[in-house]
Amino acid sequence: MIPARPLTPEVEALLARREERGLERLRHAGYEPASPWPGREDHPWSVRCACGAVRVSTLRRVEGGEPCRACWNSEHPAALGASAGAGGQ
Ligand SMILES: [Zn+2]
Repeated sequence: MIPARPLTPEVEALLARREERGLERLRHAGYEPASPWPGREDHPWSVRCACGAVRVSTLRRVEGGEPCRACWNSEHPAALGASAGAGGQ
């Protein structure tokens, strides 16, 4: 496999640094990566919440405080449907 654009050591170092920063920022936001660093903070990234739920978001969105749906549901049980109270699955 021949890369279309050979990366210079400087670019490789920059990309490695960016990935490191991205992972650091993701963990700081309370998530673990569930797929490799997508390369950019606004690209879709599969991330795992501390509760165990995995979802596709972007670094920018999780840093911006986008709530995990599973966590949000457990914190707002009433929002699941107050009228369906006695139901269950
Ligand atoms: Zn969660």
